[in-house]
Amino acid sequence: MNPLRPSARAAAVPPSATAALDAHAKALVAAGADVINLTSGEPAFPTVEPAARAAEQAIAEDFTRYTPAAGVPELRAAIAAHLNRHGTAYEASRVVVTAGAKQALHHAFTALLDPGDEVLVPAPYWVSYPHLIALAGGTLIPVRPAPGAGLKVTPEQVREAITDRTRVLLLNSPANPSGVVYSRYELAALAEVAVEHDLVIVSDEICEHWVFGDARFASVAALGAEIAARTVTVGGVSKTFAMTGWRIGWLAASAELASTVTALQSHTASAPSSIAQRAALGALTADLGAELERRRSALDARRLATVKAIGDVPGLRVDGDPEGAFFLLADVTGLYGKACAGRTVTSAADFAALLLAEAQVAVVPGADFAAPDHVRISYTVPPEQLDEALGRLAGFVGALS
Ligand code: PLP
Repeated sequence: MNPLRPSARAAAVPPSATAALDAHAKALVAAGADVINLTSGEPAFPTVEPAARAAEQAIAEDFTRYTPAAGVPELRAAIAAHLNRHGTAYEASRVVVTAGAKQALHHAFTALLDPGDEVLVPAPYWVSYPHLIALAGGTLIPVRPAPGAGLKVTPEQVREAITDRTRVLLLNSPANPSGVVYSRYELAALAEVAVEHDLVIVSDEICEHWVFGDARFASVAALGAEIAARTVTVGGVSKTFAMTGWRIGWLAASAELASTVTALQSHTASAPSSIAQRAALGALTADLGAELERRRSALDARRLATVKAIGDVPGLRVDGDPEGAFFLLADVTGLYGKACAGRTVTSAADFAALLLAEAQVAVVPGADFAAPDHVRISYTVPPEQLDEALGRLAGFVGALS
């Protein structure tokens, strides 16, 4: 008997594969290995200056008590204004501040799902979605893009996946792990299916800032009144302002759902950190346009270099058009059957393991993203490291026989 055995619900949740790999790569670096880590889910920039200053000031003022469960009013107002730049019409009262977008998603699914409810999720999808949905009693139903369709799903594919248990359509653009960005027309067509079938839309817009080239970000709740009325918008400061460790995210929805979520949060977290809320307020209310644009251009240069380098490696293929976030998916099936150090590549997991062992470059195999023949490459590392990693990767593939 193990008195501390986990519940069946908890035992079904594996650790995050991306977090495990990131930790493994960081441990190798700490032990002195010359590993370049392309697994990271965060931009390699420092936290924006005004956020850090606001946090220091919060501490100096002893702004260190519980805040209202939904977050401090000024921050909720600043978040509503931030969202409404994209054409939505949120009032502060419909915004709940959470400990990261991840907790916002957790609250949203807990507030919306009854046991057995189904959530349609375009694949490939972010690793945490299946577990966040399952913990809330729901089931993730993947909607798979057709081969060659640029890793985007169509309204018809969503329609075909609907059953009488379907409750939510989850959208994520710019997408993790593929980096694809759905246009406002594509998003509107997908959202119309939700309107037709009376589904909720949960729109994970955490990477809204990181959009490149001709692509444009569109916020789902800005695409029409009927769509807005059924949409939960999720976002946060983590990726835009390089504040992943501060743990501030949000959701915006109807006043009723916001109250339900506030009640859930009041009993589970009380509220997010008061200091981090002030930091987020500092970021959202500062004039950061030029700085964020500099960062966006820097990341775009890394994106273009990575797309080119991967495209130039025989046997590797960039799948979809990675116009957003800071990842891309490389299809590795062209290397299946090739070998190195006595091991044959038969899966993306083999490829990633061999690449790490032989060339000291860490990438994430796609199985947990529902992309079993791909690896996810995160191109946020500084350019010198990125060039070195891409050179090693090309050399490694060239040496496979
Ligand atoms: N949604 C997606 C698609 C993500 O990639 C991440 C983080 O990796 C999150 C949500 C969670 O972000 P946060 O750091 O705000 O919890």
